[in-house]
Amino acid sequence: MDGKVAVVTGAGRGIGLATARLLTARGATVLRVGLGGDEAPDYLAADMGDPARVADLYRQVHKRFGRLDILVNNAGILGDARLGMIAQEMMHRVLAVNVMGVINNIQAASKLMRRSGGGAIVSLSSIVGLRGNVGQTVYAAAKAGVVGATLSAAKELAADNIRVNAVAPGFIDTDMVGHLDAATTAERLAAIPLGRAGTADEVAEVIAFLCSDAAGYVTGQVIGVDGGMVL
Ligand code: NAD
Repeated sequence: MDGKVAVVTGAGRGIGLATARLLTARGATVLRVGLGGDEAPDYLAADMGDPARVADLYRQVHKRFGRLDILVNNAGILGDARLGMIAQEMMHRVLAVNVMGVINNIQAASKLMRRSGGGAIVSLSSIVGLRGNVGQTVYAAAKAGVVGATLSAAKELAADNIRVNAVAPGFIDTDMVGHLDAATTAERLAAIPLGRAGTADEVAEVIAFLCSDAAGYVTGQVIGVDGGMVL
């Protein structure tokens, strides 16, 4: 990935941080974006739920690097609530970050990639977006939205040599699932044929593959990284 410029959102911890580190190790110049309260907060602080901040991010990429080759749309938040408890504010925030943020990033990034001769975009969906889950109607809708956006953008951007894919992790050992109580964690683990949670590094490996030239003929795909959880 020498000479390639990458943006990774939500890269202060978890899957985003692991991905940023892996892309860097493979030679890419990586601009990490985060929000605060992270283990590695030496990044550009920008809220991906704010369209003005997303637009500003790509102005900065253009100014600093003059090109863009890779976007990893990883920033995402949970919004767990059973149907009767869904608050409007929470719903707007989850959709703003998890879907509109992804679309705004794809829109701005693809303009720069087109001028750079092509590129690769990978967005984080979830098995919850494909299969649903009790108490996760809003999050599931957002993550299903990522799939629709990925398929449409893949068709639209193929002519510009821009590949667009998604990964759908299952149960990955990060801060995002750290708040779950012991019973729920045990229930989730019991549903995984490989018998354990995944690691951020294991998801990062698949993301890095999709970003690389080795995946040069792969576009419009949603790749599960879930230990068989959807089987
Ligand atoms: P995490 O909570 O550990 O890390 C999320 C990162 O995103 C943090 O660095 C946070 O600061 C950043 N972030 C959150 N909102 C942001 C915003 N508005 N603007 C910019 N940055 C923001 O989560 P994770 O487990 O590493 O998850 C990464 C992605 O993978 C998310 O999109 C998540 O929905 C998805 N995912 C995770 C799992 C899992 O089991 N952990 C499963 C399926 C999908």
